[in-house]
Amino acid sequence: MTDKKLIGVDLGGTTIKFAILTDKGEIQQKWSIETNILSDGQLIIPDIIDSINHHIEMYGMTSDQFDGIGLGSPGTIDHAKGTIKGAYNLNWTNEVYPVCDIEKGTGLPVTIENDANVAALGEKWQGAGNNADDVVFVTLGTGVGGGIIANGKLIQGANGAAGEIGHVTVDPNGFMCTCGKRGCLETIASATGIVRVARDRASEYAGDSKLKAMLDDGQDISAKDVFDLAKEDDDLALIVVNYVCESLGFVLGNIANTLNPKYIVIGGGVSAAGDFLLNKVDKAMRKNEFATIKDSTKLRLASLGNGAGVIGAASLIKVD
Ligand SMILES: [Zn+2]
Repeated sequence: MTDKKLIGVDLGGTTIKFAILTDKGEIQQKWSIETNILSDGQLIIPDIIDSINHHIEMYGMTSDQFDGIGLGSPGTIDHAKGTIKGAYNLNWTNEVYPVCDIEKGTGLPVTIENDANVAALGEKWQGAGNNADDVVFVTLGTGVGGGIIANGKLIQGANGAAGEIGHVTVDPNGFMCTCGKRGCLETIASATGIVRVARDRASEYAGDSKLKAMLDDGQDISAKDVFDLAKEDDDLALIVVNYVCESLGFVLGNIANTLNPKYIVIGGGVSAAGDFLLNKVDKAMRKNEFATIKDSTKLRLASLGNGAGVIGAASLIKVD
């Protein structure tokens, strides 16, 4: 425990969010800048360095008042080398060196982690994970990401790729996934997956449905539209939502059987569907759970929203 501050940085494809936190996880200052992905994303790291230095100075602080900087980023993290590879939404096609560069630019120690993992750490520390030692986080956004904390530690895996819940196979004969496999959870339960399922089911649906009419009319629909219509008892929308929730519950039930976490937390844009989603997934999850797990693993909605990333990133450099 120190009384020094932490800096959390959440690097995304459109914005970079920053926060200064106490070691107890209270946000004292926060700000954000646009992510400039031009010139192969070469300006991103210099922008992060400038923004941190500028704000430390603006708040009348000095770098020795901080324990360090935690950074959450898309892409594959090499923890030993402090590098990130394959963050395509940042136009980073080659390996980049944020740890070395930001340490040099700010004079502060830097720790990096995958963005889904930092969101998991954030929800564990200050959100729905209630600071439990065993928390699984799944984020339903454009894709499906995940992070696993077991015995109080983030599970990174042999090659830093643990927690890829989005690529658990639900249907070996299902839709093609961007990863090259078929039937990954992401092809069904991500925002894009839900729309894909809706189009697929609509093509063989002959009943009365507003969703069907919208699709037949060539309208653009979103995952939110599908959930909103399901809440209004639209028949096709309910077929889609039930399949999505059954698939999610199938995967989460099996993860619960494997890890017996205290909490499984659902976040990301799709989780805005709220208790309607939670109750359906919970029911499906319980159907796939072993008896002891049913009593001890609880499903919850994420509570930090967009703030999970900076909080989790800051927790990377927290001194216990
Ligand atoms: Zn996949």
